Amino acid sequence: MKSKTGALCEKHDIPYKIDYEIGKYSYSRTGLKVRIAIFPNTSEKLIYLIQEFKNQNIDFKIIGSTTNILFLESQIYQCFVYTTMLTEYDFHENHAIVGCGRAVSDFVRDVSMRSIEGFEGLEGIPGTIGGALVMNAGAYGYSISDNLLSVDVIDVNGEVRTIWKSEMKIVNRSIPTLQGKIIVRAKFNLKKGTHSQIEKMTRKFHISRHQYQEWVYPNLGSIYIVPGLNINQNMREIHTGRRFFLKYLYFILFKVWFFKPLFIFRRSFPSFNLPFELLKMLKIKTYNSEVASKTTVNTFSNKNYSTLTILEYFLQLREDAGGTIKLENEIYTGNVETVVDPRLRKLQLKIVDQLGCEKSDSYSSGKM
Ligand SMILES: Cc1cc2nc3c(=O)[nH]c(=O)nc-3n(C[C@H](O)[C@H](O)[C@H](O)COP(=O)(O)OP(=O)(O)OC[C@H]3O[C@@H](n4cnc5c(N)ncnc54)[C@H](O)[C@@H]3O)c2cc1C
Repeated sequence: MKSKTGALCEKHDIPYKIDYEIGKYSYSRTGLKVRIAIFPNTSEKLIYLIQEFKNQNIDFKIIGSTTNILFLESQIYQCFVYTTMLTEYDFHENHAIVGCGRAVSDFVRDVSMRSIEGFEGLEGIPGTIGGALVMNAGAYGYSISDNLLSVDVIDVNGEVRTIWKSEMKIVNRSIPTLQGKIIVRAKFNLKKGTHSQIEKMTRKFHISRHQYQEWVYPNLGSIYIVPGLNINQNMREIHTGRRFFLKYLYFILFKVWFFKPLFIFRRSFPSFNLPFELLKMLKIKTYNSEVASKTTVNTFSNKNYSTLTILEYFLQLREDAGGTIKLENEIYTGNVETVVDPRLRKLQLKIVDQLGCEKSDSYSSGKM
């Protein structure tokens, strides 16, 4: 029997898939499946769909590229609305309007080719504009909100409205004003720069990202928010903070190891990371874990693990850091259709509680 949601999609020509296997398609390759995955391909269809969901009290979760969400395989989710087909964009003299589903890295290329500066550090962030705005994503001192002018959202009443940057509360890795709303499109200010300078900076950040990002296994980037510009540096301080000798030894080794001319040496031993090995030898717990990425302990590497193993690693990392770090990855436990493994889910939820995760909001992820 066709579901009420499927019928709604067909009536309005909105693409959807039944029993969409998120374990195969999510960025971290976690989770089992979602009963219905919907892919609106125009913002009008997105708005219509959300308003219908509100009227009919249908539970859903809005999804971008899944680059920050860890899914549980102990449950089948009910309904996900993916924004990844909402990629339309328009450039005007002083501003650009970008659909919520456009990839951040594509947008960085869109502005670079027009010699527009101020977005260089966002190169390589794998999410969508909508996901990046909710999280105020950023790197290397740049953030997605730097050149933001306004955002069009669907609010809790199902109404579309514009929120100007001056009305927003913006903090490190979050724009709380946007929480619980659905971002449809964003407007960015454009400032002309010089081709050569933009290219130089973008290449520099690209090379730097290659050094510390996990490239072999599925992952979700940084697990915990680190306040500074360099993830390794922050994690290094958390682990060696009170041991000054170890901290400086590690610092020197890190600098030597990542010294540019040594790239030939690093390339010859791709799975060896000298600073990482040092911490491992010193038996610092997190560094001994197989789950840790070889590039930084603040990223997991999914070697076909269950979500429980990954969550145990989150907890271990937090305990090693004395609880001083805040989770950046979202563990999504809401929108349950069926619990397929109650015992596993109980264990997973226990860790989620221990991690002190914020509960899902009631609009972009939950019943309206
Ligand atoms: C390898 C790697 C590197 C990364 N590097 C960085 C980095 O350098 N800096 C950084 O900040 N982050 C980084 N991240 C994290 C992540 O990529 C970004 O935060 C990204 O912007 C999330 O976007 P997304 O589309 O994947 O969102 P998703 O993971 O799909 O969703 C994240 C949250 O946003 C909500 N959401 C998504 N779209 C919308 C919308 N249109 N309206 C309302 N809510 C929405 C979802 O409901 C969910 O709660 C990295 C991740 C990976 C895997």
